[in-house]
Amino acid sequence: MSGVISFDDLREACRAGGPEGWLRFAELYAPVVRHLLEHHFSGEGGAALLPKVFEAARAEPGELLGEAGGNEKEFLLRLRDLVFRIGREARGPGPTPPQPSPGVGPAEPEKVAAALESFPVLQQQLLALALRGYSPETLKVMLRFEPETTRGALEQFTGKLGAASSGALAAGAGKALVAAASAAPRGEQCVAESAFARWADGQMTWRERETTDRHMAECIHCLNRSAEYLEVFHFFRMLPPASANDVEEIAAALGLPAAAAATKKKTPWWLRLLGG
Ligand SMILES: [Zn+2]
Repeated sequence: MSGVISFDDLREACRAGGPEGWLRFAELYAPVVRHLLEHHFSGEGGAALLPKVFEAARAEPGELLGEAGGNEKEFLLRLRDLVFRIGREARGPGPTPPQPSPGVGPAEPEKVAAALESFPVLQQQLLALALRGYSPETLKVMLRFEPETTRGALEQFTGKLGAASSGALAAGAGKALVAAASAAPRGEQCVAESAFARWADGQMTWRERETTDRHMAECIHCLNRSAEYLEVFHFFRMLPPASANDVEEIAAALGLPAAAAATKKKTPWWLRLLGG
């Protein structure tokens, strides 16, 4: 299965369960899965968890791949959730949930959420990703904010929390943010999962955009989810193709014959679409 393939075709091929679909799946998504594991779960083994994520994906493709017609961007959020489930399982019942950092006060979920709310929505997303350990330089590529803007926002945010330095704050506040977001209930006004991509792609009407922005600025759950979408989509789009090693390792875990697909060096489909 080479050449351009639509997400619908890939979903059908994976649902049919044959090796071609799953090899293609591994090729397409191994890079972003590897990145998420290395960035968020280095202490749990990082990329060593790669085969586990794909085993879990193959065990429950229906839920992960979604219904016919559903798009790849929504799927990427579910894939991200799956990576986090596997990572957290590997972490075990350790000190994961809201654990105030030694400074205690600064990393309380409610305080972090409240401090965030005082920023415009785009800066809230910027901060949400900065608190997850992305550097101002990476965020420049991801969100097109100048590094000075990120540093300034972090400094202001640090000040609002009364923390001594943004460095000391970051790790604890990142966890507190995730804790606040998962504790916040999803309300009727909350943004549909399918809407984050339309928001990011500028495909909303002016009115819808305004309503969504206003909601996200005040809803830590949706703000956080939008940052998660920006993260997973950015790395899916930007990372170079999967290494033959990764594809082979995944294929072995799934019991697939890897040789044919993994050894060919191929341009990723999206680059081909761009004429690359
Ligand atoms: Zn919401």
